Amino acid sequence: MHETLLKEAQEEIMRHHWDTFCTQPLSIAEGGKGVIVPGCVACKKLLYTNNQYLSHLAIDVLPEILRKFSGTSA
Ligand SMILES: [Zn+2]
Repeated sequence: MHETLLKEAQEEIMRHHWDTFCTQPLSIAEGGKGVIVPGCVACKKLLYTNNQYLSHLAIDVLPEILRKFSGTSA
């Protein structure tokens, strides 16, 4: 694989890191309906386990990367 494509793929995957995020803006005035949940920060997708996270990468992220590259590869 081309060096730059590999780098792009790695950056895309790393964008989807597993951390905690807020489902909605924590607005105190509106009663603070947002909750802190674990999941993919880039997609705001709930992921409770390491397995779910890996599935997200394999099912949601990888096809997107391949689709992107199939258009640019020579
Ligand atoms: Zn994601």
